[in-house]
Amino acid sequence: MVKETKFYDILGVAPTSSEDEIKRAYRKLALKFHPDKNKDEGAQEKFKEISVAYDCLSDEEKRRKYDQFGEKGLSGDGGVDPSDIFSSFFGGGSRTRGEPKPKDIVHEYPVPLEHFYNGKVVKLAVNRDRLCEPCNGSGSNKPGVDAKCRDCQGRGVQMVTRQLGPGFIQQMQIQCKNCGGKGTAIKPEDKCSNCSGAQVVKDKKIFEIPIEKGMKKGDSVAFRGEGDQIPGVRLAGDIIIILDQKHHPTFTRKGNHLLLEQTISLGEALTGFVTEITHLDGRKIAIRSVAGECIDPDHLWAINREGMPVPKTGGVERGNLIIKFKVTYPSNISENDNATIRRILGVPPVRNVSPDAEEAFIAKTTIDLAKESQSRRDDDDDDDEPRGPRSAGCAQQ
Ligand SMILES: [Zn+2]
Ligand SMILES: [Zn+2]
Repeated sequence: MVKETKFYDILGVAPTSSEDEIKRAYRKLALKFHPDKNKDEGAQEKFKEISVAYDCLSDEEKRRKYDQFGEKGLSGDGGVDPSDIFSSFFGGGSRTRGEPKPKDIVHEYPVPLEHFYNGKVVKLAVNRDRLCEPCNGSGSNKPGVDAKCRDCQGRGVQMVTRQLGPGFIQQMQIQCKNCGGKGTAIKPEDKCSNCSGAQVVKDKKIFEIPIEKGMKKGDSVAFRGEGDQIPGVRLAGDIIIILDQKHHPTFTRKGNHLLLEQTISLGEALTGFVTEITHLDGRKIAIRSVAGECIDPDHLWAINREGMPVPKTGGVERGNLIIKFKVTYPSNISENDNATIRRILGVPPVRNVSPDAEEAFIAKTTIDLAKESQSRRDDDDDDDEPRGPRSAGCAQQ
């Protein structure tokens, strides 16, 4: 028994879940609520919560303490930086706690399913702040010039005192007038001609993102130290590219399998069909039913090894191509054909009914049962299941 389940609840997992399940839950939620992606109110708070929960549950020792004593058992532990956790999870690097580092640049990149199937290196231009090279981030061409604003010692703010009345003074912080809060001030004649004394420049760099066979939505590629730079900060931020998948008109990915939805006629379902598709690598494939076998759309059908490449096997292992059939029916059949079809399919003659039974013919309807049950949710009778024939015992009550 665990003491409390709050952290598990935040990640939507059971207290018995494995390390892997916790990782998967974090991955999914972190991608959903990352502040760079989700601008909804409360997303940032949610992102923090997820990070705190994951930080605890992903650490064997912390999780043990939490299970035993609850959140109180973790007190004394340092704060959690959500973006640190995120970047180490998606970038795969180790966490550097404490040392200041610019915020990572997180980009989402929509990948066509073809690239996940064949593998491809794609190019992406990323804008970032980098230290100015000609002045080496000092802001000045002259060696030895200190960019720090003298008025505020580089802090960007100054303390002023204000007399509010006899004996009352108030101290307050205001933005430094000399440097405008930047903390840097260089004489105009000393300013670096490349960055005009700003120390950093906007830089656009093209990155090559290796998309390996079998990668999927949610996978990420990190470029360590290629993100923003801040003057006076040793570490540069990272660039994290999170892969998304573009919609494909023919195939839907289901893990390592591909799903193809195919519409065929009733005639084809009974007597056989062939259809030609173009696969994700451009191959043409003729998909055929087996002679003599009918297609029951209640089943799924498959072609082995025509699915997605299994990650990290270089495409040696593959999932399957699953086919789901939708069968369209003819709206009517002539009397002649009717007799022939009944004979071929072995349909028994139309049943005799009681002589006093009323006749009722069915007609097509547009009633939407899903909607009906929604609007009737408040009614007492929410039994929308079709009722089976009542048993003899019931009928006699
Ligand atoms: Zn200043
Ligand atoms: Zn410069």
